[in-house]
Amino acid sequence: MITKEQATKNLDTLITKVEAARLRVSHHHIVKIIGISKYSTSEDVQALYEVGQRAFGENKVQDLKEKSTTLDSYPIEWHFVGRLQKNKINNLIDLNPMLMHSLDSLDLAQELDKKLKAKKKTMSCLLQINSAREDSKAGVMPEVAVETYKNILENYPNIKLKGVMSIGAHSEDRNEIKASFDLTKKIYDELEPLGARYCSMGMSSDFELAIACGSNMIRVGSSLFKN
Ligand SMILES: *Cc1c(COP(=O)(O)O)cnc(C)c1O
Repeated sequence: MITKEQATKNLDTLITKVEAARLRVSHHHIVKIIGISKYSTSEDVQALYEVGQRAFGENKVQDLKEKSTTLDSYPIEWHFVGRLQKNKINNLIDLNPMLMHSLDSLDLAQELDKKLKAKKKTMSCLLQINSAREDSKAGVMPEVAVETYKNILENYPNIKLKGVMSIGAHSEDRNEIKASFDLTKKIYDELEPLGARYCSMGMSSDFELAIACGSNMIRVGSSLFKN
């Protein structure tokens, strides 16, 4: 379990780095931190909550359900960032996540919209982009991202698209990672006139680079929850 001292230290270190990185972009560039709690317990989330972190994310519907139920009495903002299996769509809808970052295909959009309609609900989502074209990663290919985004806006009204999400290239080469972030930001800029507000990119190993490339939402797990 993470101690209060460790939670304070981890969050302070992260905030200090994020603050410096965002100020290098602009005084007006605000970055939201989502604590990814997938490898941690509800007690760990509570420890981070108590030192000030308010937004958390999970990558499995079942884990989101367990942690959000356990921590029901806290005003935590929950995000979903993982691959959504079709048979878990209804469960996710019932959990009312603040934002679903991983809408990764037109096919999933169609299925999600149908189930939202049946429940007379909406869900705020980000379109996931496979910006480094990796077979191991989900998301739409960069060259079809804008048309897919427009297609979802037009045809699936119960999905409220709020922007894009991408995972940086899996590489030791900073230039390759940067290229994947730059490409995502370029797509985000094209979508801003259509209402895109969140460019979710950057994790523990690359959030400073992601912010330099224009990210305004980072998803940080291991460095925030480390013991
Ligand atoms: C696990 C995960 C993160 C956080 O990764 P860390 O490297 O632990 O910071 C961010 N985004 C997604 C989609 C994840 O699955």
